[in-house]
Amino acid sequence: MQKMRPLGVTILVILEILSSMLFLLGGVGLMLLDNFIEPQILDIPELQYLTELGIIQLIGLIVIILSLSSLVVSWGLWTGRRWGWTLSLIFAILGGLSGIISLPIGIGNLVLNIFIIWYLLEPHVKAFYGFGFKPQPKSQSELLSSSISSMVYCTRCGAKNSIDDNFCRRCGALLKKANNS
Ligand SMILES: [Zn+2]
Repeated sequence: MQKMRPLGVTILVILEILSSMLFLLGGVGLMLLDNFIEPQILDIPELQYLTELGIIQLIGLIVIILSLSSLVVSWGLWTGRRWGWTLSLIFAILGGLSGIISLPIGIGNLVLNIFIIWYLLEPHVKAFYGFGFKPQPKSQSELLSSSISSMVYCTRCGAKNSIDDNFCRRCGALLKKANNS
């Protein structure tokens, strides 16, 4: 697809990359912070120490993974990939849901993601990702009838030929196309 990238997509991708970078730093920060607070936790019973240590690291790791996958999705969105559009929509829906869960603080998150969902569903944006302009996939019966109507019978020998043929495959007679009349 060599279509012009919609301006909103460019803005969206830049914002996504910036926020992904921030979250990536946050995730790395969580894992580093873990090392800094380690000496203080040593006083707490061993099990609790391990659990808390693991959870902090896990959260840091999840944030890093989410940030990296968000960067990949941004790249897909930027280059006009269908999966980039689809995953962005899923991310926006999940983001909106997390906004609903964390209301009223999450109101900004909710509004932003509803806007992103609305924008991604805009016809010209969908068209950029190759949605909407493709003909509907044919059903089995439509395919069958179209293959029947694309057949032409030779008037000399009666052999069945494709509508694309100009001469009979069996006898070589010039085929008269029924759909021309
Ligand atoms: Zn023939």
